[in-house]
Amino acid sequence: MNCYECGQQGRTTPATAVCRVCGAAVCTDHVRTESKSLRESASPGKVTHDQPARQLTCPVCHAAEESS
Ligand SMILES: [Zn+2]
Ligand SMILES: [Zn+2]
Repeated sequence: MNCYECGQQGRTTPATAVCRVCGAAVCTDHVRTESKSLRESASPGKVTHDQPARQLTCPVCHAAEESS
């Protein structure tokens, strides 16, 4: 599978990840990686020792989540 974002730009790059939101395949240049604690923290900034979950998204969905 090739990167969807690169495909939009007329390029062909092997994809290394899949967006968890829209399911688009993305390459290492286009993938957005976030680490979020699955447990909601009552006080922002508080350090927790929970193992954060990895969330891979494409640039489009990353921007959409940032704006929401
Ligand atoms: Zn790409
Ligand atoms: Zn996406």
